[in-house]
Amino acid sequence: MLKYIYMLSLNIQIAEINRVGQTMAKRLKLLGVETARDLLFYFPFRYDDFSQSVKFKDLRPEMSVNVVGVIELIQNKRSPRKRMNITEALVSDGEETIKVIWFNQPFIARNLRVGDKVSLSGRTDDDYGGIMMASPAYEKIISGAGVHTQGFVPNYHLTANITQKQLRYLIKSIIHLSAQVFDFLPVEIRRNLKLLDFSSALVKIHFPKNQADIDEARQRLAFDELFFLQLQSQIIKQELKSSKADSLPFKEAETKKFVNSLPFKLTDGQRKAAWEILRDIAKDKPMSRLLEGDVGSGKTVVAVMAMLNAVLNGAQAALMVPTELLARQHYESVCKLLVDFNLTIGLMTGSERKINRGSGIRNQELGKSIVKKQIADEIKKGEINIVIGTHALIQEEIKFKNLGLAIIDEQHRFGVEQRKALIEKSQTADNRQNSLARDSAAANVQSPIPNYLIPHLLSMTATPIPRSLALAIYGDLDISIINEMPQGRKKILTYAVPEKKRAGAYKFIREKIEEGRQVFVICPLIDISDKLGVKSAKEEYEKLDKNIFPDLKIGILHGKMKAKEKEKVMSEFLENKIKILVSTSVVEVGVDVPNAAIMMIEGADRFGLAQLHQFRGRVGRGEYQSYCFLFSESQAEKTIKRLQALVNCHNGFELAKIDLKYRGPGEVYGTAQKGYPQLKIASLFDYQLMKQARDEAIKLLARDASLNSWPELKKKMEEIGRDAHLE
Ligand code: ADP
Ligand code: MG
Repeated sequence: MLKYIYMLSLNIQIAEINRVGQTMAKRLKLLGVETARDLLFYFPFRYDDFSQSVKFKDLRPEMSVNVVGVIELIQNKRSPRKRMNITEALVSDGEETIKVIWFNQPFIARNLRVGDKVSLSGRTDDDYGGIMMASPAYEKIISGAGVHTQGFVPNYHLTANITQKQLRYLIKSIIHLSAQVFDFLPVEIRRNLKLLDFSSALVKIHFPKNQADIDEARQRLAFDELFFLQLQSQIIKQELKSSKADSLPFKEAETKKFVNSLPFKLTDGQRKAAWEILRDIAKDKPMSRLLEGDVGSGKTVVAVMAMLNAVLNGAQAALMVPTELLARQHYESVCKLLVDFNLTIGLMTGSERKINRGSGIRNQELGKSIVKKQIADEIKKGEINIVIGTHALIQEEIKFKNLGLAIIDEQHRFGVEQRKALIEKSQTADNRQNSLARDSAAANVQSPIPNYLIPHLLSMTATPIPRSLALAIYGDLDISIINEMPQGRKKILTYAVPEKKRAGAYKFIREKIEEGRQVFVICPLIDISDKLGVKSAKEEYEKLDKNIFPDLKIGILHGKMKAKEKEKVMSEFLENKIKILVSTSVVEVGVDVPNAAIMMIEGADRFGLAQLHQFRGRVGRGEYQSYCFLFSESQAEKTIKRLQALVNCHNGFELAKIDLKYRGPGEVYGTAQKGYPQLKIASLFDYQLMKQARDEAIKLLARDASLNSWPELKKKMEEIGRDAHLE
């Protein structure tokens, strides 16, 4: 047995650990735990404080306590009426005795015997003037302190058929392995910041003796997570700084001509963002910039200004968006916006390929449909100036002759891999040769810097990301923010509507439709589900179509529909044939229907505030006063408070902040969003610690940018980098 434990290594499979069977191993796998190392890194999410053991004579009813005593009597009984098994025990601490009962766990009477010392934790009750405990957590104390019922007891997130006890026992049995875990943090940093060494931190996070242990352990583990994140960002930033891009100088006259052709005046926010971007792409270092702006703040024209400048410099530009609908709409609006510049613009999605050849084509038919091979060919030959598309753009076959600018709209909907793939589209053979010839020195530098030109990258998002979060996720990006809306937009009047006023809401909707307006209805699900009471798009569609508005044309839109069907529904909605569009969250992104004036959201409590704010941004895009009605299945106080925030607040950043208090970033920004770092311990919103981690990362690289002084750390960063390079 001893020998066996001795041989354990961090990489051992869970099933090979003593007393873990295949079944248990399978269950643990559901938690992502496959090896001993995984288990050590499976951290508790909270602790019960049983550190104060109470004497029996001090016990009162309804206390939450831990007590220690010896079993004086234990037996199983049947409760005649309820057909229940009751285990009854008397436990003494030498001075007094209490009664303890458990229900339907007859095995306890076999585990615990008279004379055993036990630790019990739970609530006390009155027992005819005495004290009893019902169903306390129990633990036999063999020697020393208990794991489950004494001191600070860790609580882990569980899956079916694993108990806290089993998990604690298992972790306890391998906790000594933490001594084998390599400490990547350079020792100077650890000393400077007075952090625990890594293995002590692991021991203390699982089995703390007191609150101070928990705090210290968390501090150390959180710092590590943020430090690696920041170090990685800084490394990428360095690489970008030393790699080359095509310089795309500012074409002043044409840009002015473009701005003057717009039917509106740019806001100051748009001007500033455009200026920052145009200044960046004029450099021969690749831009890496995030453009943030609330829904409807007008990011598209800013992007078009950048693309125009790229194209006028002889480079190609690509705009990648998350849905076919949005690609189509962008394609159409970009064709119209650039109609005076005689450009060739392509659309490329899974189901649709089009090319619009510059001059002459105005609002009628925007380009001919063509086959994939043809558009791929023209992109490769450089005949297409601007391509707009979905992830169809990053397929194997697509190669650009000269991609100078890559833009990703709604970038939070894309994973790292997809963004990377788009940037790498510029690695054509020609391109590589060019840059090699231009800068042969780069090839000699021992670094992972690509020695070909990489395009300027602009990411755009309507997701309001607070500074600290942006620092965490996008430490390597520069950020531009459009912080104002175009003039003349009316505030969208928002109401949390109680169920009893539903009929009134439908009446109001009918009036607005009679005035010529259109309506969105958003539902959390597509199909009628077995989750009782959750509204589904299909169900609502049926109801509205048959019962409420039988005389009106209602449409439905959801993610399982074929692209062609979606297209048809969306164009009918745009043409005001469909009056009410019932939809799942697919409309969240980008779609522009200026005539829509009411946004009705079912099951609003199921969405994050930032996401609800994005839905709301779908209306109020035209000249009409617009409305947002929130219906909720839950009447819980917390829900009502959250929704009330949406009623009162019309700023995406503020809403995100409110919601982040209650929910994690993944939830706040919707489950479809990728690219949030998975942090176990650190909070993305701990600005202080984040900044400390960033400062240390910068200092470390200033001392030795190659990281050769810390070979293990270097190896680790290379591993991380492989997964996340060039985000
Ligand atoms: P988003 O930032 O959400 O992508 P869009 O670029 O789609 O916003 O712009 C929303 C709408 O506002 C479009 O119809 C666009 O033509 C219009 N728009 C953009 N800029 C202005 C402006 N400065 N003044 C008035 N309308 C504008
Ligand atoms: Mg947009």
